[in-house]
Amino acid sequence: MQVTILGSGTATPSFERNSSGLFIQTAKTKALLDMGPGTLRRMCEAHIDYKEIDVITLTHFHPDHVTDFISFLFASNYAYGPMRTAPFHVIGPTGLEQLYLSLVEIFGNWIVPSGNRMLMHEMSATAPDSYEINGLQVSTRPAAHSFPSLSYRIDAEETALTISGDTDVSENLIELARNSDTLVCECSMPDNMKINGHMTPSEAGSVATAAMVKRLILTHFYPPCDDVDVVSAAQNKFHGTVLKAEDLMTVDLNV
Ligand SMILES: [Zn+2]
Ligand SMILES: [Zn+2]
Repeated sequence: MQVTILGSGTATPSFERNSSGLFIQTAKTKALLDMGPGTLRRMCEAHIDYKEIDVITLTHFHPDHVTDFISFLFASNYAYGPMRTAPFHVIGPTGLEQLYLSLVEIFGNWIVPSGNRMLMHEMSATAPDSYEINGLQVSTRPAAHSFPSLSYRIDAEETALTISGDTDVSENLIELARNSDTLVCECSMPDNMKINGHMTPSEAGSVATAAMVKRLILTHFYPPCDDVDVVSAAQNKFHGTVLKAEDLMTVDLNV
């Protein structure tokens, strides 16, 4: 399993750090986790063809995590060149279908994929849930963020990847991430600028230790995180590998 960071940033517009997006590739499947504005552009830079995406997972419905889903739907019908005909799957918390119907009310049939190609599946926003798709065992738990919000765990090819999504510290995240090979964890603000509903590098390190993961990838940085050493702050609490996500960085999780 490989992951490519498409966006290590937040709602703050940034040349270096796009809004949230993660590309996950296995031998069988190409998946996206979150699609903030600019995700499709970053995919072009990473040579990832949007027509080859099999699964889209959404953590929550804040605009910095979902707005390129609209552009993806429009491109699925009207981009230049041959269209994708194979189905694709969209997974998100309870409310996903309502979000989609609301978008169709605004944008009309232009964003309705032709030929019933889109298959949606809602995960519980209030309890642990799981779903298997294209060889990915997807598990979710509610995140400590706006409602509804999820953290995701993906088990495939004997590798376990947990992605926090936006969340504060929570037992749910620790339980979900337990013994994962890699935890991609949000780190919105430095230790001395903690905001509720988000985490700091020390908190991410503490969660990684409590969950006994092997590798921690910090992401979702507001600009103050680039003024301090977030990796060292996390390493004070966690003795495994710590990486600071950068846009277009690819990590082979089996190594
Ligand atoms: Zn966010
Ligand atoms: Zn959010």
